[in-house]
Amino acid sequence: MSDYKYLLLERDLPKSWYNVIPDLPAPLAPPLNPATGQPADPASLEAIFPHALIEQEVSGAPSVPIPEPVLDVLRLWRPTPLHRAYRLEKALGTPAKIFYKNEGVSPAGSHKPNTSVPQAYYNRQAGMKRLATETGAGQWGSALALACQIFGMECMVYMVKCSYFQKPHRRTMMECWGAKCIPSPSDQTQAGRKVLADDPECPGSLGIAISEAVEDAATHKDTNYSLGSVLNHVLLHQTVIGQEALAQLKLADAFPDIVVGCCGGGSNFAGLAFPFVPLKASGKKIRLIAVEPTACPTMTKGLYAYDFGDKSGMTPLLKMDTLGHDFIPAGIHAGGLRYHGMAPLVSLLHREGVIEAISYPQLECFEAAITFARAEGIIVAPETSHAVACVLDEARKAKEEGKEKTILFNLSGHGHFDMAAYEKYLAGELTDYEYPQEKIKEALAHLPKA
Ligand SMILES: *Cc1c(COP(=O)(O)O)cnc(C)c1O
Repeated sequence: MSDYKYLLLERDLPKSWYNVIPDLPAPLAPPLNPATGQPADPASLEAIFPHALIEQEVSGAPSVPIPEPVLDVLRLWRPTPLHRAYRLEKALGTPAKIFYKNEGVSPAGSHKPNTSVPQAYYNRQAGMKRLATETGAGQWGSALALACQIFGMECMVYMVKCSYFQKPHRRTMMECWGAKCIPSPSDQTQAGRKVLADDPECPGSLGIAISEAVEDAATHKDTNYSLGSVLNHVLLHQTVIGQEALAQLKLADAFPDIVVGCCGGGSNFAGLAFPFVPLKASGKKIRLIAVEPTACPTMTKGLYAYDFGDKSGMTPLLKMDTLGHDFIPAGIHAGGLRYHGMAPLVSLLHREGVIEAISYPQLECFEAAITFARAEGIIVAPETSHAVACVLDEARKAKEEGKEKTILFNLSGHGHFDMAAYEKYLAGELTDYEYPQEKIKEALAHLPKA
């Protein structure tokens, strides 16, 4: 009998994070200070981040040790299982071997606690009492709420308003872990009040919520800011996923031809794919595919340019694939994939041709998620369904070509809080949305001059 799951023991948990920076094919453009246009002084970030995380942000070390107290928390649900999707392969009639890493088994239901836990730990070590953050669909807010609870900190979450009302249970989850969660734009910050004055009905965006959380951190001495994706240190923390997967594939006596992950800010994709980058550089034939929604086509239709990370221009400028910081996304259901930018590390690897980007419309993604649920049992998050859609495509191609390809993807989270979205899909009430080219042009016209 063949195995459905490849499991590691708790003591097999990676003891360090893999840093892709020394393995990049071209130098990473530094963050810029928007006022001077010069490289941002890392020390200027100390108003909102602890020193240890700033150090990780700029580190050129090939790996970074994971502190023992962080490992001790990760052990609550890690190592996560690597599954072989035999039943899906059979349903598709494909000769492809399909593997997936199940990050939905964490207490918050996604990969995000892999970084919220070390972030809360380092902030606590630095004497912080409170963390402020933004959340889109609520996955990051709940992951940070969990981590703050574990390390005895307060947690303040600004949740994008349209999601706040679409997903009330995520807020309750955050409250169970002791966090405070309010809809953004809010009247609690200058940034929020400014947006509300212009448009009281504004549905919010991650860019706006980030402005609010950064302002909260900058104006409270006991509070730091915490980001759930995009930044180098966040991607670094997620590399436990790919390192475990490599060990588990060895147990399965397999190696992937294709590695797939959905992409919002890039962290779960990077977490799985980055440990494969040096193997690819040394000659292994692997395609690394990042999947985004057609409604938020950051890599497939955006520009590689310096832009702000937030709406009101409070963050340093990052060189990344971007749709412009004014971008207000359509209310598609993959809330976690609606950020205007992309991680600078993922963007650079995309521009250098190390990774590929592709976009899928939401109906095809939900259809793929249903196929997956009926074969494998797991109902994935709408974000994750984008990776699934791409995997089904590649598995069907393998069938047409009669090739026995091996495909690995990241099941970044379960969709148990997304039943309203599935309900709409099953009732035929969802439509596709392609972000109009004119709107992209308009937002890109407002890029900061760097
Ligand atoms: C947040 C989230 C994403 C998107 O964020 P990345 O940083 O691109 O990984 C994808 N899947 C799930 C389940 C999420 O919660």
